[in-house]
Amino acid sequence: MGWLGLDDTDSLQGGCTTASFHALLADLPSNIKTGVPRLVRLWPFAQRRTRGNAALAVELHAPDEAVLMDHLDDWWRRHLAPLEGLVEASTMSDRPQSPASPGMVYYRERPDEAFYWSAVRQEVDLLSTPTPHRAWGGHGKIGAAAAISWPGQQVTWEAIAWRSTTESTQPRRIDMNALLDIDAMVGVVLSRDPRNGSGLIAPRGPSPVLFGVRATSFEAAEGACLHLLDAPKTEEASAWRVFETNQASGDHLPPVQSFTVASVGTHPARKHAHVRTDGPTVVAYAEGGAVNALARWLQEGDKISVAGLLHPDGTLHAERLKVDSWVHRTYQRPLCSSCRVRMKSMGKGQGLRCPSCKSTAPDTWDGVPVEPPHTGWVEPPMDARRHLARPLSWEDSDGRM
Ligand SMILES: [Zn+2]
Repeated sequence: MGWLGLDDTDSLQGGCTTASFHALLADLPSNIKTGVPRLVRLWPFAQRRTRGNAALAVELHAPDEAVLMDHLDDWWRRHLAPLEGLVEASTMSDRPQSPASPGMVYYRERPDEAFYWSAVRQEVDLLSTPTPHRAWGGHGKIGAAAAISWPGQQVTWEAIAWRSTTESTQPRRIDMNALLDIDAMVGVVLSRDPRNGSGLIAPRGPSPVLFGVRATSFEAAEGACLHLLDAPKTEEASAWRVFETNQASGDHLPPVQSFTVASVGTHPARKHAHVRTDGPTVVAYAEGGAVNALARWLQEGDKISVAGLLHPDGTLHAERLKVDSWVHRTYQRPLCSSCRVRMKSMGKGQGLRCPSCKSTAPDTWDGVPVEPPHTGWVEPPMDARRHLARPLSWEDSDGRM
């Protein structure tokens, strides 16, 4: 009995760690039993990130561990070691991707979950990785170990189907009626963007993945996947498999922090907002929808609560934002205390006078009540959220995680 993990096999030639891992599992000797494989998303700002920063792991029950190790040695040498150093083809990444540095690890017992919590919330290195019973390859060993150490308490499922290799240069064909069907299935989540109805199950850019359907149960993921694959207008898939995942767990976010706003700068063309506070600068990207709208509305003196990721550059990238209290935006003269007519200035430094009853008052201003664009927690639209982001609608009414 043991645990096998794999990470960082994304490359020009092969595409995706999920496909590599599926091939590995499909080729295990038949007397080796496997648990439900897991797909674990890790810290989004990791320096050596691959597409989506997902690592894979599975529990194995092997009657003879030595035979298993021989098999894995051979598999590694033939299928995974050759991926070392290849650069992933990616058109959608906002920064250069690292060359593939595949890593595979085998532990006899699952390492402590503390390593997972480090790897999902901060940079970790090989030195801090729990020592495996057996290890192959390079940097990918870190994610592979983290995927194994994931305690799996906050869980969702994703059914992934892979394309037939002969078809993978063509645009993906997924039956749109079947997509509507699965979107309405109980337990299927985050499959269509409710704003424009567009599907969220197919990856953008080159990938051997045909689709991935997310769900709150294994059965819902499996049922939706089969429904899509059986539909007449869906292309032939080469294989499919259900993974247990930490997606939508919110595990990557540290506790909510509260700040007072000092100033807000907005990028003139791209509309990204930088909110300077008495703590870190809070960044809200244009794609963040309501988060960005609220951030751009803020002014000096407003108090905010933020759930976000601390970027290595020291800024806090907001994933959830709430304004707790706000200052007045505009001011006006007070009303006359006896006839409720708005008073007027009699000239600089000469006080106020009521146009109706002519009574006078000291020179003061009242704040005009104002409502922010959003008064509760807000989050980015579905297609702009991280895989790890937990939807607000899954939380209690206070938005607590
Ligand atoms: Zn008056």
